[in-house]
Amino acid sequence: RKLGYAIVGLGSYATRQIMPRIKECEFARLTALVSGTPEKLERYGSEYNIPRTHRYSYAEYDRIRDNPDIDLVYVILPNSMHAEYSIRASQAGKHVLCEKPMAVSAAECEAMIAAARKANRKLMIGYRSRFEAHNRHAIELVRSGFAGTPALITAEHGFNAQPNQWRLDKPMSGGGSLMDIGIYSLNAARYLAGEEPAEISAMEYTDRSDPRFRTVEDRIDWQMRFPSGLIANCVSRYTSNHNAYRVTGDKGWVGLEPATSYAGQQMWVRANGKTEQRFVPALPKNQFVGQLDHFAECAMSGREPLVPGEEGLRDLRLIEAIYRSAREHRAVKLA
Ligand code: NAD
Repeated sequence: RKLGYAIVGLGSYATRQIMPRIKECEFARLTALVSGTPEKLERYGSEYNIPRTHRYSYAEYDRIRDNPDIDLVYVILPNSMHAEYSIRASQAGKHVLCEKPMAVSAAECEAMIAAARKANRKLMIGYRSRFEAHNRHAIELVRSGFAGTPALITAEHGFNAQPNQWRLDKPMSGGGSLMDIGIYSLNAARYLAGEEPAEISAMEYTDRSDPRFRTVEDRIDWQMRFPSGLIANCVSRYTSNHNAYRVTGDKGWVGLEPATSYAGQQMWVRANGKTEQRFVPALPKNQFVGQLDHFAECAMSGREPLVPGEEGLRDLRLIEAIYRSAREHRAVKLA
């Protein structure tokens, strides 16, 4: 049988990107909805044929424990709510897929990992690019030595943030552009490098007279040095559009632009003194379906997910180091 997903939080990403695609899954189906807004439960409940018994308010959330049609819980709430709703789902005996950033602190991530382990259930983070064809091919090319020995990674992510939203309220978001979009630069640098950074140096600039940035940062860029000597230069912005990365080695480079968008990725490569666009065939499942199905398969088989809670924790530890470096105007060495 297909495993059942409960979606927690019926916001933009859940209703526009995730829910419409669950029907394409081979191993999963949509069986329940959790929302604080009765009209949304009514609207999406009838659109997706979810019986009333499988629609929950936040007050009723812990009752998912008693619903055998819910195997997997996908937490798509504002960042500060990820830890609580993931932990309660683990305690209800469900496998948890949680959106990025995993939580707003490394300590919260550790508590989420402990709760999933105690319940003997899986925990995965919504790093969908790991299921996207161009990103997978870029990793393969870099590992195969196509560009030679990797020496430099540049990774840029940013967009123009709309005013008046939870993303700009630090208690809800945990931070600014880094928590939301810069995390793609960070995560990509790590999966492209295939090693963990040894040192981080960051610089922030935020125009505090802009009403959007009373509590969160706009521009925060950082450099990571890896044990091999590879250096990554990473960009995170809430006031300009960026979505690209490039890995340069001693023989050439591999680059994507856009790199981590919902669709439309393009790859350029340079080798033997020649730059060309490279066509990457689509995977049988797009990144959303690939991610949803992978997690269902892991829950069924007991296999460890490609991007488990530990991956989210590593990013949160680095995010904390980036903020510390920017605040203290010094490089931060990592354990
Ligand atoms: P959104 O604002 O559209 O949705 C958030 C949902 O949470 C809304 O339905 C809102 O009603 C609900 N909510 C519950 N309690 C709330 C509260 N106290 N304050 C505000 N909202 C509350 O946001 P979104 O863009 O869907 O983002 C949700 C999560 O998904 C975030 O963690 C974000 O980082 C992540 N996300 C991931 C991707 C991706 O590509 N992987 C893309 C977008 C968003």
